[in-house]
Amino acid sequence: MRNRPLFWQIFLAGLSVLILAIIAVSWYGTFMVRQFYYGQMRDDIHSRAILVRPQISSLLRARPASLQEFCRQTGRAARTRITVIAPDGTVLADSNEDPRHMDNHGHRPEVLTAMGGKVGSSFRESKTLSRKMLYVAIPLDSDHPAAGGILRLSVPATSMDRVLATIHRRIFLGTLFIILLAALSAYFIARRISRPLEEMRAAAEQLASGRSDQPVPVRDTHVSREVADLARSLNNMADQVSRRIKIIIQQKNELEAVFSSMAEGILAVDLGHRVIRINRAASEIFQVDPQAAKERPMEGVLRNRGLQEFIIRSLRETDAIRKEIVLDAADGETLLSLHAVPLFDGEGKRMGSLVAMKNITRIHQLENIRRDFVANVSHELKTPITAIRGCVETLLDSAGDDPDASRRFMEIISRQAGRLDAIVDDLLTLSRIEDRTAKSAIRTAPENILTLLEACRQTCLLAAEQKDITIDIACDPDLQGDCNRAMMEQAVINLLTNGVTYSPEHSRIFLQAEQVRDDDGRQQVRISVTDQGPGIGREHQERIFERFYRCDRARSREAGGTGLGLAIVKHIAQAHNGTVALHSEPGRGSTFFITFPASS
Ligand code: ADP
Repeated sequence: MRNRPLFWQIFLAGLSVLILAIIAVSWYGTFMVRQFYYGQMRDDIHSRAILVRPQISSLLRARPASLQEFCRQTGRAARTRITVIAPDGTVLADSNEDPRHMDNHGHRPEVLTAMGGKVGSSFRESKTLSRKMLYVAIPLDSDHPAAGGILRLSVPATSMDRVLATIHRRIFLGTLFIILLAALSAYFIARRISRPLEEMRAAAEQLASGRSDQPVPVRDTHVSREVADLARSLNNMADQVSRRIKIIIQQKNELEAVFSSMAEGILAVDLGHRVIRINRAASEIFQVDPQAAKERPMEGVLRNRGLQEFIIRSLRETDAIRKEIVLDAADGETLLSLHAVPLFDGEGKRMGSLVAMKNITRIHQLENIRRDFVANVSHELKTPITAIRGCVETLLDSAGDDPDASRRFMEIISRQAGRLDAIVDDLLTLSRIEDRTAKSAIRTAPENILTLLEACRQTCLLAAEQKDITIDIACDPDLQGDCNRAMMEQAVINLLTNGVTYSPEHSRIFLQAEQVRDDDGRQQVRISVTDQGPGIGREHQERIFERFYRCDRARSREAGGTGLGLAIVKHIAQAHNGTVALHSEPGRGSTFFITFPASS
C-alpha cells in the first residue's frame, strides 16, 4: 500500500467522519421536520373535521340532498376536500367529485381506522384525483363509529411538499456550509497533529545524516503530551548520539594522531590484498599519497617484490612474522625491518595483516661504523704495541749487550708509546666532544676571533718555523663569534698542524676568518686554513673527515698522525651547530673551512 502523508490521512479521515456525521444529522433533521410537519397538518385537518362534523351529521339526518352542496362550498372555502362515506363504504358526498362516479371507499386505510372509532390518517396518491393527498377520517357518530358513517377531510400534499422542499434546500445549504467549516477545522487539526511529527521526522533525518547538533523543536503547549514526550525523547537521543559521536571522533582523532605521528611505518592490508590504512611514515618510505593509497591493491602501491611476498605470507600465517628487506631508492638503499601481525575486526574475525616497518638503515650504518671503528682502533693500537713488543723482546734477548742498539730500541719504544698516547688522547677528546654534544652541554661565549686565531698560530709557530713555513692571518679585529674557546682553538690547531705537516718547506699558510650569511640569511663566522701543500684527491675528499681515514697512511704515520685530527675538527664544528668543508685539488693546496653561527 502506498504510504500517504500523515496530514492527508488525518485530514481525509477526519473530514469523512465529519461529512458522514453532518449528512446523517441533516437527514435525520429533514426526516423529523417532515414528521413534525405531517403531524401538524394531520392535527389541523382533524380539527377542521371536528368543526364541520356537527353540521354534516345534522345535514345527513335532516337534509341529505343538500349534503353534496354543503361539502362543495365548505371544501372550496377551506381549500379542503370533504368526503362523507356511508357505513358500507359508499361515498355520499364529496367536495371535489361527483359521488356517483366514485368507487367504494370502505377499504381505504384511514376509513377502516375511523370505522374502528379512532382517527384514521393516510398519506398517499388519490386514485380519484391522481395526486398525493393527506387524508384524515373520523367517525360521524363517535358512539357508534361503524354505523354512523365516516367524515374524511384531505388536503393535497403539494403545499406541504413545497414547504418541505424549502426546508430541505435550507438544510442542504446549511449542511454544505457546515461541511466547509468542518473541512477547515479538519485541515487545521490535521496540520497541528502532523506538523510536529514532520518536524521530528526532519530532525531525525538530520540526525541520521550525522548532524546531531540541531535539537528537535518541542512545543509543549500546542502538541499532545505523547508527541511532546516523543520529541523530548528524540532530543535526548540526539544529545546522546551527539555526545557519543563527539567521543568517537575525539578517539578517532587521537588514534589518527598517534597513527600518523608514529616513527614506525604502519600498513594495514585486507585479505583481498587491498590497502586498508597506511600511515605517514610508511607512505614516505614508499613515496605514495596515504589517502590515494587507501582501498587500492597493495601490488599497485608497494612496488617491492620482497615486501609483497612478505605481506602475502603474513596473510596466510596465524602468528607474527619478521623479516628484513632492502628497498632500492633514488638516494640509495633502505634497509627495512618488517614485523607483521594478524589483524582482526571487532568480532574477532580475521580481516588482514598489520605490518610495522622500521627503517634500520641508520642503525645498520652505525653498527658498521662501530664495527669499523673497533677494527680501526684495534689496528691503530696494535701497530705501536707490536713495535714496542718487538723492541722489548730484542732488548731482552740481547740483554743490552750493545748500548747503541739498546738506545735505538728504547727510542723506538718511546716513540711508539708516544703514538699510543696520542691515539688514546685523540680518542678521549673525540668521545668527550661526542658526549658533550649528545648532552648539549658545550658552553659558548662571545669570543674575539682574531685573538683566537693568534693563539692558534702561536701554538703551531715552532713546528712551522722548523719547516720555514709562514702563517699569515687575515681577520677583522672586531669579528666576534659565539664559541667554546678551548674547543675551537683545538679545531683550528688541528687544521694548522695538518697544514704544517703536509706542506712543503718554505711555503705559506693563510689563516683567515670572516663573517658570512647562510642560505637563511643568518650571520655565520667562517674560519679557513689554506696551505700550499700536495692537495687532496677528489676520491678522498668525501671520507677525509672519517675517523682513522688517511690519504697516505705511511706519510701520516711517519708524521706522527693519528688519523683522528679531522674527525675531531668535524665533531667540534657540529658541537657548535656548524659545518666543515674542504676545497682542494691535487698539487694546488687545500683549504679547510669551519663555519658556525656568529651568535647562538
Ligand atoms: P692525521 O693525524 O693522519 O693527519 P687527520 O684526520 O688530521 O689525520 O687527516 C686525515 C688525512 O687527511 C691525513 O692522513 C692526510 O692524508 C690528509 N690531510 C689532512 N690534512 C691535509 C692537508 N692539509 N694536506 C694534505 N693532506 C691532508
